[in-house]
Amino acid sequence: MADYDYDVLVIGAGPGGYVAAIRAAQLGLKVACAEGRETLGGTCLNVGCIPSKALLHGSELYEEAAGGTLAKFGVKTGKVSLDLPVMQAEKALAVKELTGGIEFLFKKNKVTWLKGMAKFAGPHAVDVAGSAVTAKHIVIATGSSVTPLPGVAVDNDAGVVVDSTGALALGRVPQHLVVIGGGVIGLELGSVWRRLGAQVTVVEFLDQLLPGMDGEIRKEAAKIFKKQGMALRLSTKVTGVTVKGKTATLTLEPAAGGPAETINADAVLVAIGRRPHTDGLGLDVIGLAPNQRGQIETDHDFRTTVDGVWAIGDVIPGPMLAHKAEDEGIAVAENIAGLTGIVNHDVIPGVVYTAPEIAGVGLTEEGAKEAGHEIKVGKFPMMANSRAKTNREGDGLVKIIADAATDRVLGVWIIASLAGTMIAEAALAMEFGATSEDIAYTCHAHPTHSEAIKEAAMAVTGKPIHI
Ligand code: FAD
Ligand code: NAD
Repeated sequence: MADYDYDVLVIGAGPGGYVAAIRAAQLGLKVACAEGRETLGGTCLNVGCIPSKALLHGSELYEEAAGGTLAKFGVKTGKVSLDLPVMQAEKALAVKELTGGIEFLFKKNKVTWLKGMAKFAGPHAVDVAGSAVTAKHIVIATGSSVTPLPGVAVDNDAGVVVDSTGALALGRVPQHLVVIGGGVIGLELGSVWRRLGAQVTVVEFLDQLLPGMDGEIRKEAAKIFKKQGMALRLSTKVTGVTVKGKTATLTLEPAAGGPAETINADAVLVAIGRRPHTDGLGLDVIGLAPNQRGQIETDHDFRTTVDGVWAIGDVIPGPMLAHKAEDEGIAVAENIAGLTGIVNHDVIPGVVYTAPEIAGVGLTEEGAKEAGHEIKVGKFPMMANSRAKTNREGDGLVKIIADAATDRVLGVWIIASLAGTMIAEAALAMEFGATSEDIAYTCHAHPTHSEAIKEAAMAVTGKPIHI
């Protein structure tokens, strides 16, 4: 048998790659992980999940203090002011602590960190920053990068037309921020800057925000964002952006065609999606061709068509989510080690971390019907949940979609202040094949937001108590 430097070489140290590397090492394999960034943790820890959540948390605290929620409960604060450099420094500290934490875990698990960009040099062989490395198994976990908008030049350093990385690092609160794309990034980062004082306009090509989510939830979310003061321009496309000094002028047209108009902004966030990242990886050297969407296709075990080459995370089909990448990281390592690693792609929760949060798992109502299910739907408004009402967090609802014949839960959708935490219960229930009756007869602590899940489950059969 050929002698390799490593049993497993993982390319990319994002949530997919670093988790795969650690699990493979835990299983007794000799592992290296190549990473082109200065720090470990990938998009998620460096310029994604973590810094965005730090700013969402900080801006939520600011809005609570400045916007009156604290005052409503008799907490007097006096004049509240924003120290943006301190908020940004706190974000940077969280990133530093968490990326440093992965470095610690690599050392603890004896994963070798190869610093530099990796490029295939042949079967089982990779060049990392000029050094040749061989491995019996190579896992591609190179993630994704920002999708550019043709004709619109992003310049994060100038800070006028930015992508998500630039929008996380603005050194001033814009007066008018135009967000191109009403998806997850646009709404999360749009919320951050709105809370800190910017006027925010979201321009979305489709007729509704948040593609992929349940239709009713998308509509309800739009109502809530409008109520919060965001201007929504749905069914509208941006056809050009010009920048003069610190002012951007955007040309907008109805998506279906029609007269153009222009609007000005001092900041523009381009957030129209992300695409798989395989640039410079040398896939052609090993005869691996991405599909039409640039993704690397794998089988159920995360094997590519090339012997000894596996792929996981944002670079393969499926939702671009950190926890999906992590679960695939564990599964691929277990498969490489000869165990059985499985990811149930039908039960991957998704959360938008706005206030309220928006979360879902499983099928949408539309998707369930398209898939041929006869369905029953149970809903419960957060306004009727005692804890949410007490906390003055009445916006939103829980919606449960169950199969009419078997009562098995097919999908759960939640808008609630704690939706991101509540959705875990729904995912667990679905993983165990629960019926709506199983959830309805599970005792939920009182008073909690989660009781709304129980009541929505009771509503599937028409018998909630509190509405
Ligand atoms: P990545 O995290 O992209 O990591 C890939 C790594 O590979 C990168 O560090 C890259 O430098 C490295 N790399 C690429 N090519 C090479 C090469 N040739 N050699 C060496 N290294 C290479 N998801 C959530 O679930 N929750 C959230 O709250 C959330 N918030 C987000 C907020 C923002 C602003 C963004 C942009 C994304 C967010 N995401 C969130 C998505 C999440 O970040 C991704 O789904 C996740 O990071 C994907 O993990 P990955 O390991 O597949 O790839
Ligand atoms: P997205 O796919 O969520 O949303 C992009 C939006 O832009 C869509 O609604 C699309 O219709 C719209 N769009 C596309 N072209 C347009 C145009 N020319 N004009 C106007 N609108 C246009 O993508 P995103 O918000 O950039 O996020 C990228 C990925 O990052 C997502 O896949 C998401 O899973 C991940 N992410 C996840 C989280 C989270 O889990 N909380 C947070 C941030 C990012």
